[in-house]
Amino acid sequence: MIKVAKEVNGNVMTLRLSGSIEESVALDEMVGPTPPEVRVDCKEITRINSVGVKGWIKYFSGLQAKNTKLTFFQCSTAIVEQVNLISNFVCGGTVESIYVPFACTNCKAELIALFKTADLNPDAIQLPELKCTKCSGKAVFDDIEEEYFSFLSR
Ligand SMILES: [Zn+2]
Repeated sequence: MIKVAKEVNGNVMTLRLSGSIEESVALDEMVGPTPPEVRVDCKEITRINSVGVKGWIKYFSGLQAKNTKLTFFQCSTAIVEQVNLISNFVCGGTVESIYVPFACTNCKAELIALFKTADLNPDAIQLPELKCTKCSGKAVFDDIEEEYFSFLSR
């Protein structure tokens, strides 16, 4: 089940979506009227399946049709996966920042780190090494670069 928290500041609404999107959710009813700019915080979206994706695109393409400025930020790995798979997933919006998975080379712990897409060069992705929060070992990117960052080249 998905939870929606919203905050309006002048012409900007920030939507915090959390949970798993695995059924048709009436986002339009949950959110209500929207201002000219909508920012979507995707940090807490843990999964989304094909039914959820359909509802998501229906809702956000409706906002796109109203010329809403859409920005998706703090995109979880589940969301980044969909952005890569489905070319119109963000419905004309901008992906501002994404979480990137890392794994410790020593204790195998999995970590995530937030990056601004503007700081990532699609032609030469250069990710820093992270220090594992558990053992201070070296943590490295833990996915397939060509796939995880493919949306940047669109
Ligand atoms: Zn470690």
